[in-house]
Amino acid sequence: MDVRSAQKLVMENKHIKGFNTTDVPLEFCLLQGEIAEAFDAWRKNRPDVGEELADAAIYLLGLADMVGADLQGEIEAKMVKNAARAYHRLPNGVLVKARDGDETEERSSL
Ligand SMILES: [Mg+2]
Repeated sequence: MDVRSAQKLVMENKHIKGFNTTDVPLEFCLLQGEIAEAFDAWRKNRPDVGEELADAAIYLLGLADMVGADLQGEIEAKMVKNAARAYHRLPNGVLVKARDGDETEERSSL
């Protein structure tokens, strides 16, 4: 299944079940909760870490749809952008993104 199809199916399920489809701040909080559940499962070496990550992915797909984002297109564009980025390591070990000229920016996001 591709990301775009998954996003559509997540929203169909939300509508069928009567889940949240309009409250964006709530959806961010619910996504955060699923990330926390996944972390807790991993930290405690529980076998459901993959299931909790799936929950997080499902919430992310729903949230993307709620804000009008085509997550597949966004991921593809971002991966191209990331692949083109160059990084170098400072003497103190911090990895920084090379920018136009000699400008650098501390790596804070993917
Ligand atoms: Mg969960």
